[in-house]
Amino acid sequence: KAKEAGRNTVQFFDPKMQVAVSSKATLIHDLYNAIQQRQFTLFYQKQIDQHGRVVGVEALLRWFHPEKGMISPAQFIPLTEETGLIVPIGDWILQQACETLVNWAKQPVTKNLSVAVNISVVQFSKDNFVQKVINSLRSSGANPQLLKLEITESLLANNIPDVKAKMRELQQCGVTFSIDDFGTGYSSLSYLKQLPINQLKIDQSFVRDIINSSNDKAIAQAIITLASSMDLQVIAEGVETEDQRALLKSMGCNTYQGYLFGKPCRLEELKL
Ligand code: C2E
Ligand code: MG
Ligand code: MG
Ligand code: MG
Repeated sequence: KAKEAGRNTVQFFDPKMQVAVSSKATLIHDLYNAIQQRQFTLFYQKQIDQHGRVVGVEALLRWFHPEKGMISPAQFIPLTEETGLIVPIGDWILQQACETLVNWAKQPVTKNLSVAVNISVVQFSKDNFVQKVINSLRSSGANPQLLKLEITESLLANNIPDVKAKMRELQQCGVTFSIDDFGTGYSSLSYLKQLPINQLKIDQSFVRDIINSSNDKAIAQAIITLASSMDLQVIAEGVETEDQRALLKSMGCNTYQGYLFGKPCRLEELKL
């Protein structure tokens, strides 16, 4: 019987695959309305120094879909890049981040906190990217020194002269740069001496098993040593336990971000 079914059933595709494809198209369709419908919220996650003080936050985008609930950025950011929607969404993120900086500037407790914003390659590569960042800063009145842009090594894979020129121009305005997910890309290290970079972010894949994996520990140590000898700041992401924090501290890493100190949350819920 099974044999017969096998012979008569010709499957051109896996039904699961059809669901995946149609939901991708649906998600893209829904993304087009998401800004107007105010479905995006910028969450913030604390960054902590060796004394346990908050030194800044990273802004992380959240999409609250009316039917599907909260959708992870890992799922929808690639779709916004594919469609170019990351450009208007990225503008909105920059404006929100600047607004937060302006509100924080009014309070002594928050006035020195930095806000780090993730910048997609697609967004950065646009000709008017620098002007847009400058416009967001000027129209809001935010302090450029407190705006940190997180870029990834993938950006450095192509057109270094263009990347360099844009980074220099922004650096001259006071904006700083952090290399996100450092050590996971394919780029060469030579860009580190050519570009105005302020900080390396140790990727959470090296932090996760740092206690038990001598390889992860060796990589993290190499990043910390590299940063220190090049006068760059270093921050570890994905720090979840006190043991991880203590080990990183003993290795010379003095800034941390992770669930140990707080998950990303709404601005109103941040305990600073
Ligand atoms: P990322 O920039 O490397 O952000 C760190 C991710 O790690 C965040 O995931 C954060 O919620 C998560 N995380 C923080 N602490 C811990 C921890 O202790 N343990 C674990 N397991 N995870 C932790 P999220 O918010 O889901 O974002 C994923 C990625 O999506 C980001 O990675 C970034 O590449 C991208 N993304 C998020 N928001 C934006 C945005 O506003 N613009 C752009 N272009 N990309 C964004
Ligand atoms: Mg980031
Ligand atoms: Mg990261
Ligand atoms: Mg990451």
